Amino acid sequence: MTKMKIKIIQKAKVPFDKSSTPRSLRLEELRTGKNQKFNLENYEKVYKSFRWDDFKKELTLFRNDRINAAYNAIDRHVESARKNKVALYFEAEDGTKQKFTFFDLSLLSNKMANLLRQKGIAKGDRVFIFLPRVPSLYISFLGILKIGAIAGTLFSAFQEQALFDRLANSGAKIVITNTLLGERVEKIKHKLPRLQEIIYVDSESYQKKLAEVSDTAHIAQMHANDAAFMLYTSGTTGKPKGVVHRHLAILQEHLTARWVLDIRDEDIYWCTADPGWVTGIAYEILGSWSNGASTVVFEGRFDPARWYKILQDYKVTVWYTAPTAVRMLMAAGGALVKKYDLANLRHLASVGEPLNPEAIFWGRRVFGLSFHDNWWQTETGAIMIANYPCLPIKPGSMGKPFPGVIAAIVDDNGNKLGINKEGNLALKPGWPSMMKTIWRRPHKYRSYFLKGLAASHERAKRVEWYISGDRAYQDKDGYFWFIGRADDVIKTSGERVGPFEVESALVAHPTVVEAGVIGKPDAVRGEIIKAFVVLKKDVKTSEKLKAELSEFVKKHLAGHAYPREIEFIDKLPKTRSGKIMRRVLKAKEMGLPIGDTSTLEEY
Ligand code: ATP
Ligand code: MG
Repeated sequence: MTKMKIKIIQKAKVPFDKSSTPRSLRLEELRTGKNQKFNLENYEKVYKSFRWDDFKKELTLFRNDRINAAYNAIDRHVESARKNKVALYFEAEDGTKQKFTFFDLSLLSNKMANLLRQKGIAKGDRVFIFLPRVPSLYISFLGILKIGAIAGTLFSAFQEQALFDRLANSGAKIVITNTLLGERVEKIKHKLPRLQEIIYVDSESYQKKLAEVSDTAHIAQMHANDAAFMLYTSGTTGKPKGVVHRHLAILQEHLTARWVLDIRDEDIYWCTADPGWVTGIAYEILGSWSNGASTVVFEGRFDPARWYKILQDYKVTVWYTAPTAVRMLMAAGGALVKKYDLANLRHLASVGEPLNPEAIFWGRRVFGLSFHDNWWQTETGAIMIANYPCLPIKPGSMGKPFPGVIAAIVDDNGNKLGINKEGNLALKPGWPSMMKTIWRRPHKYRSYFLKGLAASHERAKRVEWYISGDRAYQDKDGYFWFIGRADDVIKTSGERVGPFEVESALVAHPTVVEAGVIGKPDAVRGEIIKAFVVLKKDVKTSEKLKAELSEFVKKHLAGHAYPREIEFIDKLPKTRSGKIMRRVLKAKEMGLPIGDTSTLEEY
């Protein structure tokens, strides 16, 4: 642990807000209805008295506390008034639309469960899905869980090496795919001795079998701790890890969908994530459907006009997306938004990367609503820290820990640090959706946990922390502020600087779309801050602009935390889930190998 003095720069204060806040906030109040009750009304009160066990009644458990996450997402609604409610509004890339009720999904996933059983798939076997966002993906996922097998998801852009790594590591017995994507699996199957079969959902033989097989199925009654699904992390910092989650994770996915995403029965909900990543599983399948949400799924890629049209056509009320998408929408301009009727929107949330304050101010201007940032990881299985509809937002902050979650800032020995002190963002193990293991890497799993000494007021009892790998600090009001991934924090002239605040300062400049910031080794200063900047379409690059941007950051952020070097680039390297890969920027800058690129978007 470095002894370096840590100075927290109070980031993104009001000066960055270029909007007329009072008007936009009034709009927000109007939209949400001033006296309207949120699902979570009094955060502080609930946080104080919260116990997970008290909320198990939100789920439907079998005898002896046995559980099945898929049953909770879908089938239990069939016993209720939601039976014929639309669960899934699907829109294909080519505009084809389909609707599925909870009852439809129940029957179809029963069929998938029976089909897999017929093939000898049993509890604990891994069945992987390699499909674009089409209904078969969701139905297969549910079917796999229903028989107690472990569902794995693979993002549809993965090529052979990425597929091989994940299928070999997981020892998958079956891959469910389509003719187009299946070609890639065919090419590597000779190297996968455990792979028994590739199922093609668009083949005639599969359709025929599906028609024949029974639509009633025995649903496996699982222990809370039994594995339900697994997936590989985004690979932002290195080789993706196979994170395994258990059936009881749905308890936290359910409650967070209710209290953070504020999902209610009358909502039309759209989560833009792909189930190849954890957000798409926890909040497009499990937690959202367990709340009975009518969910929109769009197969196609990001496109501003198409996205606004979807928000408009389906009358979306709750929208969960990612900072990268928001920044791209900002770049597409406010005039485009005005062409669409988005009056039904009432709640916006964001995850995956830090959300630049400017993105919140922009959201207020164009939608009259604030994006609510929340923080979590593949490993945490559900939202851990969040901005809640019932609490004021501090733009740039991730918010406060979810009830039942104990989060703290600790040093490398597990000692709690004080207010505004940078340290490891740590969590007290034991939340319901905490990963069960890292597949076949027990040492890696253990490496997340730190035994440490608690602060003295806790009578110095030994505690164990889950160390997230992110650096953050907590302010006097209990809000957590993201600084950067541990590997990304820059050490310049004896000060530590998080790339996020420099990037946010740059994004607040009118010419900038987005920015990636790294520490570049420097003989005098240890590191200097280097920024890679993507400019708006019509902006001309010049040395003068570089100087202006440096000056802008210096003025708005801090004298020492400005980029001494700026490079204009067309596109930032990102993961396929939309995260800036600073390690790629750094490796390129230093002429080093860039490491695992299986999740790198083509760029
Ligand atoms: P890998 O672990 O393979 O490097 P990854 O960490 O990007 O990839 P995920 O589990 O998808 O994989 O992402 C979790 C990480 O994303 C967090 O640890 C954090 O760095 C970042 N993140 C997610 N949400 C937020 C947020 N609201 N604010 C800041 N950072 C966030
Ligand atoms: Mg990670």
